[in-house]
Amino acid sequence: QEDIFKKVISHAKEYGYVFQSSEIYDGLSAVYDYAQNGVELKKNIREYWWQAMVQLNDNIVGIDAAIFMHPTTWKASGHVDAFNDPLIDNKDSKKRYRADVLVEDYVAKIEAKIDKEVTKAAKRFGDSFDKKQFLETNQRVLDYQTKGDGILKRLGKSLENEDLADVKALIEELEIACPLSGSKNWTDVKQFNLMFGTKLGASADSAMDLYLRPETAQGIFVNFLNVQKTGRMKIPFGIAQTGKAFRNEIVARQFIFRMREFEQMEMQYFIKPGTQQEWYEKWKEKRMKWHLSLGMGEENYRFHDHEKLAHYADAAADIEFKFPFGFKELEGIHSRTDFDLSQHEEFSGKKLQYFDPEENKSYVPYVLETSIGLDRMFLAVFSNSLKEEELENGTTRTVLKLPAVLAPAKAAVLPLLKRDGLPEVAQKLVDELKWDFNVVYDEKDAVGRRYRRQDAAGTPFCVTVDHQTLEDNTVTIRHRDTMEQQRVALDQVKAIISKEVDM
Ligand code: ATP
Repeated sequence: QEDIFKKVISHAKEYGYVFQSSEIYDGLSAVYDYAQNGVELKKNIREYWWQAMVQLNDNIVGIDAAIFMHPTTWKASGHVDAFNDPLIDNKDSKKRYRADVLVEDYVAKIEAKIDKEVTKAAKRFGDSFDKKQFLETNQRVLDYQTKGDGILKRLGKSLENEDLADVKALIEELEIACPLSGSKNWTDVKQFNLMFGTKLGASADSAMDLYLRPETAQGIFVNFLNVQKTGRMKIPFGIAQTGKAFRNEIVARQFIFRMREFEQMEMQYFIKPGTQQEWYEKWKEKRMKWHLSLGMGEENYRFHDHEKLAHYADAAADIEFKFPFGFKELEGIHSRTDFDLSQHEEFSGKKLQYFDPEENKSYVPYVLETSIGLDRMFLAVFSNSLKEEELENGTTRTVLKLPAVLAPAKAAVLPLLKRDGLPEVAQKLVDELKWDFNVVYDEKDAVGRRYRRQDAAGTPFCVTVDHQTLEDNTVTIRHRDTMEQQRVALDQVKAIISKEVDM
């Protein structure tokens, strides 16, 4: 699994999808740049989301709010007081951990330890080895399982309840019961705020402390009434937004899964109080359908309903995706009640109410939110598409089976040879097709190698111009996924490809 993830990262670099930020200065941790192909894939995912949200729903409109917001926004939203991660430092190694991630690490270490004992015993006992019996009777394994499990459960509870002193005590207890990290010397657990601060204004005394927004949602809430009035929107209606968000993440080790600067695609749906359960179910279903429409395999998605709810929510679920490192959150669906709008009313002193003509009264609407990380979606699509295939002739090919609607280039046009007028015909075709979708032209190397190169870059179609083209105006279209080739008339190429790649 780790190997697959490494391949994903190196493929993303080699084929111009994702580079480390400021690489010539050895990079900046958890910050990444999208390269020539990555920027196209990312744009296409954003557009696919925007179409489904804004274009296909006549009661959802978009906005693009600024990253900087009035600092009181973040007091009202709760981010100043409650947007924290519990941190613990190891005094021996001088390493800093997020307490919940440390717990995850322990689970993984305990599992690895038990696996190791099983493998050792299996070697020793050979054919007579009975794994089930071994797991049930081996004292060392039992110690790890029962003692470790018990402490980990209590740790989970303490983390949820934010009993920071308990968290520290339990981490120490865990290390005694299952000595795995060798470090016993921990500092107290502290809460660490994830927002980045900056200053607005030049002179020291008049400068105002600002935050880089840690989520796009608040830009929607503070504009709720402006949009409702100017758009004459009737409840239920939604406001959608995509844009950058910033979080000073402590543990940043999973490529673009957890970044310090990332992009969100959020939609806030304003509803009548009391209807939240119904809309929560509807949006869970709608969002899952959106994911499945990309054809990346139903088995790779699952819902995770939250038991512990954030301060603003009365119901919440994640759509989890099977990343190379396991099932993890890709999107959140949150029933946020009237928490945000009420808070902004209180802190701004302005009414944020909707007059409901059917009910003939005003109220603060409830909100149903869908929130997905664009970069995380990129990683889901990219990692799921990367395949090594055994071919019939015994060779393997690397192919990036991106959904055609999302692929950066939709077609590559290849003259079979670099002479006899073939490049000119191919170039002419490129000039025609480029008005409808992204096309690349490639004449270097043997055509087989060019096919492989386009496979690995994720281009769904290759169009080859050969000598027969000069005679009868036909070309070959090769399909990336099946490698099948079809002979078609030159003037049909645009229609055939458009049908497959248009959103
Ligand atoms: P996590 O538990 O993974 O930190 P979260 O629950 O804090 O995520 P939300 O605040 O609900 O996430 O944000 C909504 C979405 O934004 C997430 O589902 C995820 O796709 C994306 N997201 C959040 N933090 C990051 C990050 N640091 N890098 C990339 N995407 C992120």
